[in-house]
Amino acid sequence: MSNSAELHAAIRDVIDFPKEGIIFKDITPILADGRLLRRTIDLLCETAGGAKVDKVAGIDARGFIFGAAVADRLGAGFVPIRKKGKLPWKTHQAAYALEYGESVIELHQDAVSPGENVLLVDDLLATGGTAAAAAGLLGTLEARIISISFVIELAFLEGRGKLAGHPVHSLLTY
Ligand code: AMP
Repeated sequence: MSNSAELHAAIRDVIDFPKEGIIFKDITPILADGRLLRRTIDLLCETAGGAKVDKVAGIDARGFIFGAAVADRLGAGFVPIRKKGKLPWKTHQAAYALEYGESVIELHQDAVSPGENVLLVDDLLATGGTAAAAAGLLGTLEARIISISFVIELAFLEGRGKLAGHPVHSLLTY
């Protein structure tokens, strides 16, 4: 099997989670398989296109798992973008609509220096609201977003439209 076919095969569809009508893409089988996890991190690193990456920003919570591993691999720092109320220092906040619900995310005000190259990572692009809010927070800090990179993209939800102006990469598309 090709890399992407293997990843596709590993992802588990969970029907009606966390709400009726949602097909949740469960990536835990990838995390549990050392070879697939390493391959996923390899492929996410490639989405930087060889650019120098100063910081990897990961979105709460599955973006932390992939993002921190990518940061380690690239020799970059890691920056958490968290749900409201979790970060201890001064933050910038952004509100956004989810595929299922609404939320606020935060970023420490000193997380990134102006002009730093940032790779933004999350597990899944659905409607794009979360990633657009995260990109907006990084923009507030004058980061240069090298790529917004996802393991999975639900292309039928057209989330890329909200990320116009940024390079967007996904390893698997549905
Ligand atoms: P969105 O803002 O609509 O692009 O939603 C993206 C965020 O919600 C990501 O952090 C995903 O982890 C999560 N998410 C949304 N839809 C799904 C889904 N169908 N399966 C798994 N995670 C999802």
